[in-house]
Amino acid sequence: MLCVHGDQHNYSGIGLSITPSYIRHDCLGNCSRAVIGDVVIYRASRDIGSGAPIFVPYFPAWMEVEERQGRLSCYDIYCICFLCQSQMGDKNYHDERLAAVGALFGTLPTTEDILQNPPKAIQELEELCTHLERTYVDHPTIQPRFHSAGKFALLGTCYQLLGNREKQLESSLRGLSALGFDAKVDAIGHLFIMRHGHYDRENVAKLAEMQASSLQADGLVTQAATWRLLAGKALDIRFGHWSFTDYSIFGRERPKDTSNTD
Ligand SMILES: [Zn+2]
Repeated sequence: MLCVHGDQHNYSGIGLSITPSYIRHDCLGNCSRAVIGDVVIYRASRDIGSGAPIFVPYFPAWMEVEERQGRLSCYDIYCICFLCQSQMGDKNYHDERLAAVGALFGTLPTTEDILQNPPKAIQELEELCTHLERTYVDHPTIQPRFHSAGKFALLGTCYQLLGNREKQLESSLRGLSALGFDAKVDAIGHLFIMRHGHYDRENVAKLAEMQASSLQADGLVTQAATWRLLAGKALDIRFGHWSFTDYSIFGRERPKDTSNTD
């Protein structure tokens, strides 16, 4: 397999990869790929059973299915993975969802609105989130909900302003769930990640970092560290997949690997 490493914005070279050519594409995949010099590293992003095939996503799952399929067709791949089937079958809902986001986006509370009137902002965001959630056909572990993840982060901020820790955590978990994570918080506020999400690295890292900052501000150091671990993991997946080569080219320091369960 002759590979061009990087995309049009991040071109880093062409390589002939023998063994990796046996690893097939799947839009959700079960591992991520990093290219360092002349070495290709594959890293599990979720549990893989003994003898089970390894799949790697050639393009990020958060891309619209049409764009993803278009790019894959350049590799002569016409993907019929769970995600593609789910999103193609979701066409009507998809259009309705985009229309809803478009219609409501202009009226979404600004940071100033949130600061001035958190209860009103909460009501509007809850309505939008509930509406968005309703328009998905499949469970988030099959069909990630990238359109709603950021809204849950905003919702969490509103609850934080009102000092409602329980709802703040709940909003964060809803945001993680939208990205396909299976997570839970125990009675004393520790976060457990049971299953990896769908590689929307920026959103997961941002959400976890926000959560960590607010917990840190409240003096909840252990809980903050748990969320930072998640943020680190999200970044690690991010830099381990598409952007890793940026760091080797420009000599910048790579983010520290704080993950320990992959
Ligand atoms: Zn697919």
